[in-house]
Amino acid sequence: MTVITRFAPSPTGHLHVGNVRTALHNWMWARKYGGRFLLRIDDTDLERSKEEYVAAIRADLAWLGLDIDGEERQSARFDLYEAEFEKLKAAGRVYPCYETPEELEIRRKILLSRGLPPVYERKPLDAPAPEGVAPHWRFRLNHDAPIEWTDMVRGDQRFDPATMSDPVIRRADGSWLYLLPSVIDDIAMGITHVVRGEDHVSNTAAQIQMFEALGASPPAFAHEALLVGIEGKLSKRLGSLGMENLREQGIEPIALVALLARLGTSDPVEPVTTPAPLVESIDFARFGRAPARFDEAELALLNQKILHQTDYAAVADRLPAAIDAARWNAIRPNLVHVNAAAEWVAVFDGPFTPPAADAEGQAVLAAAAKAAPGLDWNADPWRALTGAVKEATGAKGRALFLPLRRALTGRDHGPDMGELLPLIDRDQAISRLSAT
Ligand code: GLU
Repeated sequence: MTVITRFAPSPTGHLHVGNVRTALHNWMWARKYGGRFLLRIDDTDLERSKEEYVAAIRADLAWLGLDIDGEERQSARFDLYEAEFEKLKAAGRVYPCYETPEELEIRRKILLSRGLPPVYERKPLDAPAPEGVAPHWRFRLNHDAPIEWTDMVRGDQRFDPATMSDPVIRRADGSWLYLLPSVIDDIAMGITHVVRGEDHVSNTAAQIQMFEALGASPPAFAHEALLVGIEGKLSKRLGSLGMENLREQGIEPIALVALLARLGTSDPVEPVTTPAPLVESIDFARFGRAPARFDEAELALLNQKILHQTDYAAVADRLPAAIDAARWNAIRPNLVHVNAAAEWVAVFDGPFTPPAADAEGQAVLAAAAKAAPGLDWNADPWRALTGAVKEATGAKGRALFLPLRRALTGRDHGPDMGELLPLIDRDQAISRLSAT
């Protein structure tokens, strides 16, 4: 069996971290089993769907490295939906309904006030159709047996269809609701695993009967717990945190992938530089039932850890020309974002004005300025410089290193000076030491 998964966003907005997590898990599952990962654009809502969002979805998936093996769109498949709908109608599995939303709401309130579940009450099959009213359509659930499946995340699931309303699948204007087209497509595209959020669990119960009514066996389902913010709720910020924003913050796509792949699972979040180890280890049985908490601070930290192991070649196209491989290797342990590499260009090549030193520092710098011109820049100049200054002034430890680091880099902390100094322009370094 070839594994085929799909990511099925509605192009009515930008992807946020929650959707991306679903896309990622579908992609990982397909890749793990050498299968196919499809992008299905759920654009049955022609009014709200926008081409710019379709383009943005593709671009976001590409940025994340989630390559797709095919793209389909629902708006091109209305003929198929119509044909399947006719079959279900002929089989008595879909039927017309004429209630207005107001009537339905009143019935609902009455049932609730009697302490009854607000389940839609079917009309007798021979009830007369009101004249001049276009019907909407419901799918007739079969009440004979419980709906059961073993969810890859949630384990055994069981629904009593008699407690469920027959779902509306088509509006009076002929437009489609999500439920039936999705099933028709999952069958036509040979989807083997449906991975989506747990907000779809009750849809799944109805959809399993739709698969059966259309003569197909349902795929396997994995309903993952929702993603929430650190405050434990579905926050507004999380719902709107798009890829554009993260890209601008300087987040590496692999950092987001590494976090979302493992968040809410019993596998640890690790600073990987390729998705391969994540793909290999994905297992829905290790996904938790509790909401997964997404923390932007955790993402920033992970980004930093990943950068520390990222090779020059992987980032070269985003670095200023002045940052070569040696310079990258020296500064990467101190970068939170790739963008911050630009701040180091002035440290290496100038222009750069060293901060003023205190009296003690000045003595160190005076000795350094004297020793520096005689140093061989190719033979561990930092060791030679600190050795000479120590001998001349008696300074050691922090009192020796800090004034030198400050004068040469403008910072109190940073990369190992032994590695950094030979990469700083020699004349620049000498003039910085002589500046005070
Ligand atoms: N378009 C649906 C959604 O975004 C797809 C759900 C599914 O994966 O079946 O919720």
